Amino acid sequence: MNKTELLGRWTKEKSEELYGIKNWGAGYFSISDKGEVIVSPYKNNNTTAISLMDIISGVRERGLDMPVLLRFENLLDSQISYLNNSFNEAMKNLNYKGVYRGVYPIKVNQQQQVVEEVTRFGQNYHHGLEVGSKAELVAALSLMKDKEACLICNGYKDEEFIDLGLYAVKMGFKCFFVIEFPGELDIILERSKVLGVQPYMGIRIKLSAKAGGHWTESGGDRSIFGLNMSQLIEMVDILKEHNMLDCLKLLHYHLGSQIPNIQDIRSAVLEAARVYAELVNEGAPMGYLDLGGGLAVDYDGSNTNYAYSRNYTVEEYCTDVVEAVMSIMDSSNIPHPVIITESGRTTVAYHSVLVFNVLDVEKFEEYEIPDKLDEKAPEQIKNLFEVSKNISLKNIQECYNDALYYRDEIRDMFKHGRISLRDRAFSERIFWNIINHIAKEKQKLKHAPPELEDIESAIADTYYCNFSVFQSIPDSWAIDQLFPIMPLHRLLELPKRNAVIADITCDCDGKIDRFIDLHDVRKSLPLHEMKNGDDYYLGVFLVGAYQETLGDLHNLFGDTNVVSVRINPDGTYELVKEIHGDSVSDVLSYVEFDPKAMLVSFREKAEEAVRAGLITASERKEIMRAYDNGMRGYTYYER
Ligand SMILES: *Cc1c(COP(=O)(O)O)cnc(C)c1O
Repeated sequence: MNKTELLGRWTKEKSEELYGIKNWGAGYFSISDKGEVIVSPYKNNNTTAISLMDIISGVRERGLDMPVLLRFENLLDSQISYLNNSFNEAMKNLNYKGVYRGVYPIKVNQQQQVVEEVTRFGQNYHHGLEVGSKAELVAALSLMKDKEACLICNGYKDEEFIDLGLYAVKMGFKCFFVIEFPGELDIILERSKVLGVQPYMGIRIKLSAKAGGHWTESGGDRSIFGLNMSQLIEMVDILKEHNMLDCLKLLHYHLGSQIPNIQDIRSAVLEAARVYAELVNEGAPMGYLDLGGGLAVDYDGSNTNYAYSRNYTVEEYCTDVVEAVMSIMDSSNIPHPVIITESGRTTVAYHSVLVFNVLDVEKFEEYEIPDKLDEKAPEQIKNLFEVSKNISLKNIQECYNDALYYRDEIRDMFKHGRISLRDRAFSERIFWNIINHIAKEKQKLKHAPPELEDIESAIADTYYCNFSVFQSIPDSWAIDQLFPIMPLHRLLELPKRNAVIADITCDCDGKIDRFIDLHDVRKSLPLHEMKNGDDYYLGVFLVGAYQETLGDLHNLFGDTNVVSVRINPDGTYELVKEIHGDSVSDVLSYVEFDPKAMLVSFREKAEEAVRAGLITASERKEIMRAYDNGMRGYTYYER
């Protein structure tokens, strides 16, 4: 190997830096010496790490096709431990006299497997559940066993919901009704009397504190949920009137999800703690302070107050929360409450990885253009050609404007029949060479003109991938959320291409063209050149929170295959559960088609074709088999 090759050699360290895996991987994801992404159930301890490529071949051998959602139960467990240990540690260090009792909000990932694992493993810490609807309460009661854990009922509650919750209390569960609307109190009081159950009551308040970030609507004065201070006092008075103030045990607020700035978290805790202290002064027994969700996930690994990051660690969050609660309680001589948080995103985001293969690539390459133009070429094409010859660092903005101007003029001429298709095609090649050249020059500039902001993605390759953005990462489409995405192998090779990702829905929104970056948002993702015939796999990470049930059936791509993986302490792994994704007939029946009737009607058409002599009877058999196979097939691209 000569010196330049040696200097230029690509290493796993370079891949780590390029894809930022150490920044967002939270110690769970890293790159092996073989250049593959590995997952390890214990933070920063790779002794039991498993390569995602090994899991993919295991999944393939069992006959499951891509895309597959991999769920790592160990990472769920690990995050629950991490959260509880961090709170316990902070409480010990600060000499806090209360305890921490986390609850998992089911809405963040309602899959049975996930909720079951959270309740099973959560028993170690008395980690409970939060529900926001009757359906979620019904689900929670089927899975919860731990009577020490809290079961928090938020959301609008009808009589059925309330009765069920009251029976849960009767059965010994710590089931709290959190009043979100003033109107709820009456039926809770009435049903408690009828059923003879003393309810655990809580109140959700609106804080004046507001938080930055994407999901801030739930906090703040104008949020639709929770009571304002005047309604709160009214509630206290009604409870006093009914001699029921001794049921009021909990204060709750929820500022919104993914709060990137620790200052916002602190000021909300301080405000809520003050309200809590005042409720104690009013004579309510209290005992529980429920700070809602909001603990953010660092999706881009930048550790900043950017919307998809956070400027604090879980440990810092816990310390700040405990400290803030303590400072208010101590100054009013009030016993330290049980601190509850409803952290959903942080609990489940890490445990799921979406993996898929690349189906095809449309490369962007420089076109071959002759040095000189034909004398008879149209004037506008000559002008465009001139632009292409004169690009320099000084005039890229001007060249860009000129190129757009001449291109539009040429398109117009084409519409009016003044130039041929061949000439128009030729002009577009020149145009794209200009754009390519400008993009290269732009990289040398510190401050590029704003018009050129997206130019890299315009000249990126398109990697067509076997998944649906709408089904599997809906927040990427709906709110431009960023998730870490990277190849799962070949990480000892230089990724030579810059790409955007297109899914197979063929919808112009079915693409990903914004990627994580430490300082900014990257407009293309470095990927490896496809090798003839070899599979190339990508992973989208940290997709365990909010993505699964928000997904839709765009273009009738259904649920993906799901495989649950459990990594054993000896470094082996098991595929503990596999759920087959939707078949074509599944998704058709979701939109009210009747697969059986469709088969009958298609068979009639085939029979007509036999009668008309278009196909033979044995061809009819083959055609029917193809139709039937299509019905049974996976909705994604099958090998
Ligand atoms: C959505 C929600 C949560 C979860 O918030 P995360 O930021 O995901 O932890 C908690 N509590 C309530 C009331 C919610 O609506």
